[in-house]
Amino acid sequence: MKNYVDSLLDFIEQSPSCYHVVENFAASLRADGYTALREDEHWQLQRGGKYFVTRNSSSILAFRVPACEPEGFLLSAAHSDFPTFKLKDNPEKAGQYVQLSTEKYGGMLMAPWFDRPLSIAGRVLVRENGKIVTKLVNLERDLLVIPSVAIHMNRAANDGVKLLANVDTLPLFGGKDAAGSLMPLVAEAAGVEAENILGHDLYLYVRGRGTRVGANGEFVLSPKLDDLACAWGCMQGFLEASDSAAIPVCCVFDNEEVGSETKQGAASNLLRDTLRRICISLGYEEERYLRLLANSFMVSADNGHAVHPNHPEYSDPGNSPVLNGGVVVKFNANQHYTTDGVSSAIFRAVCRKADVATQVYANRSDLPGGSTLGSISNARVAVRTVDIGLAQLAMHSCVETAGAQDVESLVRAMRVLYGTNLRMDTDGITLE
Ligand code: ZN
Repeated sequence: MKNYVDSLLDFIEQSPSCYHVVENFAASLRADGYTALREDEHWQLQRGGKYFVTRNSSSILAFRVPACEPEGFLLSAAHSDFPTFKLKDNPEKAGQYVQLSTEKYGGMLMAPWFDRPLSIAGRVLVRENGKIVTKLVNLERDLLVIPSVAIHMNRAANDGVKLLANVDTLPLFGGKDAAGSLMPLVAEAAGVEAENILGHDLYLYVRGRGTRVGANGEFVLSPKLDDLACAWGCMQGFLEASDSAAIPVCCVFDNEEVGSETKQGAASNLLRDTLRRICISLGYEEERYLRLLANSFMVSADNGHAVHPNHPEYSDPGNSPVLNGGVVVKFNANQHYTTDGVSSAIFRAVCRKADVATQVYANRSDLPGGSTLGSISNARVAVRTVDIGLAQLAMHSCVETAGAQDVESLVRAMRVLYGTNLRMDTDGITLE
């Protein structure tokens, strides 16, 4: 049997930045016979064809055109980004040591970044043969550390310490003589000349592969489980699914951690334009597009909080998932999660078909909680949507913990969803 956890951990290790996430998805889609589309070219889609499109090299949408007349879209949305530190454009800060100047990307837990080997990955924009080209780069070695202050120097260190991104979390790059050597190292890793680098988007990442922990290896401990566990699980289910009468679309958007309001985020026109262009290429009129939307369903997949073993009081009693308890369906009365009675019923029916357990997440009612992709993309492309995810601990730490069994459950649920014929009629909803 395929070991989904190992495949997921391989994927995460090979995806140190959102650009690597998209490149690795694109590579597996190409290997599976998918054609890359460009947004600036004419789309001539074929019945039975398989395609994907990317934007900014950090968001990717894959879809298949069914051989039959489609009745709607079956969609999933997850995100390619994760909280981390981004290098400033002039990163080196020289003094007694050389440190790197960074800023926070996303709402992170900062303390876990201390005292571990870190490296740098992302992309550089390089002048090459008269053009500006993008190169992915991964320094792929234990390179940096953010050192803690010793307990002897700060006796209050265990009593709650305020951390400042401009002081406390600057990574140590080298001794004095390391000054001026960062960009040459980046250039070497990218296989280019340092003076030809015109721009960069470079991020820190935690070194090392994720692993299993727990008495029976039942937990997964890894960087970036939010949201690469869902992004990978949805893509895997999408690839494994058999054909249905719907157009299956698997979306992985960048910039969820900073609000999605970017040209490639879930709040952009990327999804709407892609769905419309599929319809235009198939020769459909506007009304046909709107009718397809009315018979469509989206799974917004982003991790949810498991009840914390040391702090169960932060969870809502009765609506708090556990690791390995099944796929989490997320509810919020104010629609920060899009789930409602209808979409939860559809998703639970899919999970029953897949023989996958579900569990429920709701914020403790006095805590605000987060929001996710579903409600944001619904404001642009309104379809019935359920917010789901995998239960996890330590969300937005640089190393998070989830349930090993849940990874497989998500893949199975998404495989069944993408292979389902869904009809929303006036007398009820049919899933076949
Ligand atoms: Zn997330």
